[in-house]
Amino acid sequence: MCGRWRYFAVWSLGLSVNVFGATPGPLPPAADQQLARSIFKELVEIRTTHDRGSTEAAHAIQEHLLKASFPASDVAFIAPPDHPTKGNVVVRYHGKGSAKPVLFLGHLDVVDAKAEDWSVDPFKLTEKDGWFYGRGTIDMKDGDAALLEALIRLKREHFVPERDVIAAFTADEEAGGDANGPAYLLKEHRGLIDAALVINLDGGGGNYQNGKRLYMKVGTAEKTYVTYTLETTSPGGHGSLPGPDNAIYRLASALGRIEAFKFPVTLTATTRASFEKLADLIPGPESADMRAVAVTPPDLAAAERLSQITRLNAQLRTTCVVTLISGGHAENALPQRARATIQCRMMPGDTEEHVQAALRSALNDPKVAITLDAPPIVSPESPPTAYIMNKAAIVAHSMWAGVPIVPTMAPGFSDDRQTRSAGIPSYNLSGVWSDIDENRAHGRDERIGIREFDEGVEYTYRLVKEMSREK
Ligand SMILES: [Zn+2]
Repeated sequence: MCGRWRYFAVWSLGLSVNVFGATPGPLPPAADQQLARSIFKELVEIRTTHDRGSTEAAHAIQEHLLKASFPASDVAFIAPPDHPTKGNVVVRYHGKGSAKPVLFLGHLDVVDAKAEDWSVDPFKLTEKDGWFYGRGTIDMKDGDAALLEALIRLKREHFVPERDVIAAFTADEEAGGDANGPAYLLKEHRGLIDAALVINLDGGGGNYQNGKRLYMKVGTAEKTYVTYTLETTSPGGHGSLPGPDNAIYRLASALGRIEAFKFPVTLTATTRASFEKLADLIPGPESADMRAVAVTPPDLAAAERLSQITRLNAQLRTTCVVTLISGGHAENALPQRARATIQCRMMPGDTEEHVQAALRSALNDPKVAITLDAPPIVSPESPPTAYIMNKAAIVAHSMWAGVPIVPTMAPGFSDDRQTRSAGIPSYNLSGVWSDIDENRAHGRDERIGIREFDEGVEYTYRLVKEMSREK
């Protein structure tokens, strides 16, 4: 935990050691490093919270692209007519081949931040002790800045990709979702962003532990978000005359049964490969169990032991949990109605009908109704093919020799669900390393190591180049 602090003094003397103490990777040329940092500062300081929108940031990116001599006809600013503040910008970097393009995605919006909760101004880029602080520094204006800088650098170098490279800087990933950029572009301008595959920089990245590089992630799957409402009613009446039929008691009992219910263990190509790799990389009591669940059929006793660890339980099964509850209408009256919200995260391949049927049988009470709130945006797995794992390894190993590459399933979701549900295989890749035990995305004092940012810029340049080749 404390190990990472001891390198600040060395770093500030300009020696090549990062805040974590790991062996550093290559940096971009000085001019590109400066350009990336200045774009990063500009983007962090444009407030792109849900209420403000992303249009100003999209226009700023558009200007940079035009200045870098991308033709205006290849740089499209697009906002839904009914949501003019939710702007997106899409650039096409023409290649010489006829292969289907590769699409790079980065969202421009950030989660809101209150100045009084932070130790620095969240909407200023603050450089301190080897870190850049600010809202969006890790999620994901770092990725946006790196992607934009890579395009500008490649253009300056007269690089010609083998296939078209498309980059979309998009709106509304974090909140609301009423004007989600990729969803809108897929629906209204599919031709503009249609691609053989998507590289979404909103995920992936490397994990440090105790100052050592553990592994780099390739996001190949994520869980699907789906919500249900439970509702039950009872006759009600005067609070002085309680009888046996009470909506709140009935709902509470049903919720107890939901709490006790566990969905069956389910492995996918991603989670199986993930457990296999992590068993070797994280020695400890869980290693043997990870190996045992990765075989077919999985060892269920081992799965049960791993399920005691919350984050591993989420890797092993669909999960559902009660998140909201309401009931009754007056302090002195018997309740007539009680409601609860059940929030589920489905394994890739699971369906909302199956989950609803499983919940209904766990509820075991026909008087508690269960309804689906809204059809989910289903995120099918993009399997960790040899092609994508090899590409990820080529780029990562050109930066950090020999780092292990691990396919991962995110328990949450990203815009991958938009492109995956539209049938485009989508992968999360990023060259930013962070401590495995630190997650400040969406939280207080969000930050990125300065050295990690700079290396991420160089990685992104190499990634765009590598992915522009089909083979
Ligand atoms: Zn994000």
